Amino acid sequence: TDPATIRNFSIIAHIDHGKSTLADRMLQLTGVVNAREMRAQYLDKMDIERERGITIKSQAVRMPWTHDGRGYVLNMIDTPGHVDFTYEVSRSLEACEGAVLLVDAAQGIEAQTLANLYLALDADLTIIPVLNKIDLPSAQPEKFAAEIASIIGCQPADVLQVSAKTGAGVPELLDAVVAQVPAPTGDAQAPARALIFDSVYDIYRGVVTYVRVVDGELSTRDRIRMMSTGAAHEVLEMGVHSPEPVVCAGLGVGEVGYLITGVKDVRQSRVGDTVTLATRPSAQPLAGYKQPKPMVFAGVYPIDSVDFPQLREALEKLQLNDAALVYEPETSGALGFGFRIGFLGLLHMEIVQERLEREFGLDLISTAPSVNYRVVMEDGSQHRVTNPSEFPEGKIDTVFEPVVRTNILCPAEFIGAVMELCQGRRGEQLGLDYLSEDRVEMRYRLPLGEIVFDFFDALKSRTKGYASLDYEEDGEQPSDMVKVDILLNGEPVDAFSAIVHREKAFGYGSEMASRLRKLIPRQQFEVPIQAAIGARIIARETIRAVRKDVLAKCYGGDISRKRKLLEKQKQGKKRMKMVGRVEVPQEAFVAALTTS
Ligand code: GDP
Ligand code: MG
Repeated sequence: TDPATIRNFSIIAHIDHGKSTLADRMLQLTGVVNAREMRAQYLDKMDIERERGITIKSQAVRMPWTHDGRGYVLNMIDTPGHVDFTYEVSRSLEACEGAVLLVDAAQGIEAQTLANLYLALDADLTIIPVLNKIDLPSAQPEKFAAEIASIIGCQPADVLQVSAKTGAGVPELLDAVVAQVPAPTGDAQAPARALIFDSVYDIYRGVVTYVRVVDGELSTRDRIRMMSTGAAHEVLEMGVHSPEPVVCAGLGVGEVGYLITGVKDVRQSRVGDTVTLATRPSAQPLAGYKQPKPMVFAGVYPIDSVDFPQLREALEKLQLNDAALVYEPETSGALGFGFRIGFLGLLHMEIVQERLEREFGLDLISTAPSVNYRVVMEDGSQHRVTNPSEFPEGKIDTVFEPVVRTNILCPAEFIGAVMELCQGRRGEQLGLDYLSEDRVEMRYRLPLGEIVFDFFDALKSRTKGYASLDYEEDGEQPSDMVKVDILLNGEPVDAFSAIVHREKAFGYGSEMASRLRKLIPRQQFEVPIQAAIGARIIARETIRAVRKDVLAKCYGGDISRKRKLLEKQKQGKKRMKMVGRVEVPQEAFVAALTTS
């Protein structure tokens, strides 16, 4: 294909602003899906994605479009919309020359969209601003066109208006893509270089790698090389999605498609890596390759310990599909055998847990999420701590915690509520801008550890659901962090230890102690529940003693009844955990970790 006739673009939009619906209309209008085959949200493949309305994995779709009597090839590259996948978003934007900025005309732009817009501007993409849902009675196209115009520096009249639902304005949008987005440029004679912008595991075909060719050409049967690892593979199949796979012999400058080499693990074909030819390698990989870096960690345990082998197997399978997922086995006195899993962020954590439960039928419990601390000891040695149990004893000099830069968009009436929340979470305000007369963007530097607990929920409830949030890593800072242990009759219960800021230690300790007091049944002796920092007790609750003599109820007579009761008691004991001398039903631990 002549690069001059190719247009590569993606759609940047907030969840629910209509990206999938707009994609459906484009598929229909360009004729690649006919009316009979059409179903809503055609491209949303994963079940979980469809149900939750979020895009996890990007796809690329090739569509023909005629403009001014000339035939063009449009490649629409879908981007994941969420903060946890910023790196994947940046790679899929890197594969494009233009981006459609799609904003709900009844809602206005949201924080994640703004963050992704900044990524697109950083990548020098041409932005086509579009308001969607103009058919809605609640649409305010003038107001939001002005808002978008002031953010990207165009005229309100340049903002296209469409209804993805009715299709109104969509042909004009495709024409605008052809007219405004630059054609790809690249050196057809140079050694091949292609950017991997997505990599998906398929049980039948192995890993399907999505590439955008920058220079040269890739063909079936070529031996290709991954530039980050040097690993070489033969290309068994190449093709494009239109939207179903169509095999082709090769891809040239500016083209977007997929290739299959038979590898079975997405970690061998990583997003951001450069593909070149083994026989004629390029000297210089494309810029910007990064290894995915887990930011949030949690212990994940099967509720029933016999499920441990299934959990291991499920994680192995998920990892084939998710290069960002890392895990290692861990044991807990309270929860048994499980894994410590590293996630890109909170949504990634939720998605992984949900997939484990849904696709593999596992019942799981997770510990509170933790972040990655760097602990420097007085003797100069250093520890990386992602699990409270690894928090070093001994003389600590400084603890460093990861921090993020956040931007929060909300109606101006909630400025006070958001400030209060961020201050309560040790945030430092970086700036505040009015996007329009009644909407603001607030920027804060916040410890990541303060966000992983319940920040999203707290933000939503304080702003009646109107605020949106995005964050990006911003290094680390020294902080007064301590490890709080929860002791049952003097014995620490590992699953409840947490690393928290010293000022929050009492709040955490007394909350967990009172939760456990309500959930742990009385024992034959009095049981203290304490929260402690090292040897210092900071909070205490007591479970009073009870004489639990089941046989007393039997009036000494009926032997078989007595035996039955003893049997029953033994059954019940199976799911009991011993913490020192204290018997705790596993359900109590599970409940204490889930009621938040
Ligand atoms: P996505 O999360 O950005 O992919 O958004 P969807 O395409 O799933 O759309 C979210 C919701 O908005 C769905 O209920 C759509 O039917 C609805 N929707 C999308 N576009 C329009 C539109 O132009 N007009 C109206 N009235 N509803 C729309
Ligand atoms: Mg969608």
